[in-house]
Amino acid sequence: MMIDLHTHTDCSDGTDSPAQLVNKALAQGISVLAITDHDTTSGWSAAQQAIRPGLSLALGAEISCLTKDGISVHMLGLLFDGENVGMQEMLENTRDSRIPRARKMIELLNDAGIKISMDDVESVKPVGATLGRPHIADALVKNGVVASRDEAFTDLLNNNSPYYVAHLAPTPEEAISTIRRAGGVAVIAHAFASLRGQVLSAEDFSPLKNAGLNAIEVNHRDHGNEERSALARIARELDLVISGASDYHGTGKLNSLGENFTEQAQWERLESEADQRRVVRA
Ligand code: AMP
Ligand code: ZN
Ligand code: FE
Ligand code: FE
Repeated sequence: MMIDLHTHTDCSDGTDSPAQLVNKALAQGISVLAITDHDTTSGWSAAQQAIRPGLSLALGAEISCLTKDGISVHMLGLLFDGENVGMQEMLENTRDSRIPRARKMIELLNDAGIKISMDDVESVKPVGATLGRPHIADALVKNGVVASRDEAFTDLLNNNSPYYVAHLAPTPEEAISTIRRAGGVAVIAHAFASLRGQVLSAEDFSPLKNAGLNAIEVNHRDHGNEERSALARIARELDLVISGASDYHGTGKLNSLGENFTEQAQWERLESEADQRRVVRA
């Protein structure tokens, strides 16, 4: 049983379509796949249509959050009601604010003499996909400024760069309560991925548990052994589910499908904490 609870499609910054991702998961013998595009559920219906026996789908989204102190936190919502108005409003507000945010980043890059425009970004982004820094990266590659997405992040687009601008985002507590009100479960993603920027401290998890957090993503490529042990300890102390996942982005990142995964018992507990059975089977 291979359970991968965090993946992206070209509905955000991954490169596979939802159907391609479902087919790859089937080919690799993955038993449960969660699709968790950034701030959107637009891939859900295509993924559902592509499913065949052997694979169960947990539909979700990865919600970009900011703490009151401005720390970036990614919250996975899984198995929520996709029609829930509060949920869709929260996702839409974030998507909307990603547009002026990209314009500001482009302006700062231009001020530094780097050639890139919003049109360049639009031309590399699939229509309807949630706009993100990876699309700015792809435009920089197209313009010959950098050689790859990775180089774009290292040199220009990371959270500590002078060109970084945040977008509007709910707090982690707001995201958790919106996910739970929509009947889903909340999993905090790559919480100790310190290469990405400032991260939460161990004391910050108890308020999240009180807000309704269900699980901590422990097994993720951006966590070393120390981070994994520290997060697993927090999960045990707070009685939270432990998950693992690839955070697959197609060719957009090195992460390969199923490279990290969730134990069956942990998945069963997580699934039971949603308000109803929403796993999709063929
Ligand atoms: P944004 O949501 O616009 O702030 O962009 C963040 C996204 O950029 C996340 O989904 C990351 O997966 C992606 N990202 C971060 N670092 C890199 C990298 N070095 N190469 C490719 N994608 C990255
Ligand atoms: Zn991403
Ligand atoms: Fe993330
Ligand atoms: Fe992700």
